[in-house]
Amino acid sequence: MYSSSQHRDYPQSMKTILVVEDEAPVREVLRFCLERSGYLVTSAATARLAQAQLDYFVPDLVTLDLGLPDKTGLELLQDWRRQERTQRMPVVVVSGRGDERDRVSGLRAGADDYLSKPFSRDELLARVETVLRRAAPTDAREVVEINGLRIDSASIRVTAGERPVALGPLEFRLLRYFMTQPNRVHSRDDIIDRVWRSKEYVDPRAVDVQVRRLRRVLEDVGYAECIETVRGMGYRFADQPAR
Ligand code: CA
Repeated sequence: MYSSSQHRDYPQSMKTILVVEDEAPVREVLRFCLERSGYLVTSAATARLAQAQLDYFVPDLVTLDLGLPDKTGLELLQDWRRQERTQRMPVVVVSGRGDERDRVSGLRAGADDYLSKPFSRDELLARVETVLRRAAPTDAREVVEINGLRIDSASIRVTAGERPVALGPLEFRLLRYFMTQPNRVHSRDDIIDRVWRSKEYVDPRAVDVQVRRLRRVLEDVGYAECIETVRGMGYRFADQPAR
């Protein structure tokens, strides 16, 4: 197996994962499972040590414990999302406090996914793999498919299974933005910046109107509930919608 801290001569294709976790036994379980699956793992027991590593390199993914001794994981995540280098770094929040409020806070703070302790090895690996797969340079991807809903930017075509979905240009860009970063919460301001790309002021309520239109179209093909409203924050495209 790959030894953890001596990473000489590792293949370029190996993905690096930073495990941020203060409890040594949990940290070692995470490390063990991830290394067994071929990831290169580094770890940090505090927020300060995690930041010190990130000053040198941005890993392919971070697993982040919410309860750290020197800072909460949520604060740390918010810091990362404010910095250019780490803004889009994939983060899977891992927490023992698996209640709904923590899950939502983690997602609001910009986590790509959420894992509650205790977790199984399979669940850990499935989440990590999914997040890594989606973290591929999103803007470059022409085709994104989630649960049978497919958006093809080259041919400007959306299909649900075999059925074509007709969208206007703004709805198309909105759906593409959502689908290239599934499960993340997007504020109305972010959506305006990235989807409208307007230098002029756009009323945030315009986003609500557009989302409603998009949902109405998706409703006909059974995908309306994929676009979730996150109260007080914005919207997210859920790959596993709450029903
Ligand atoms: Ca902890």
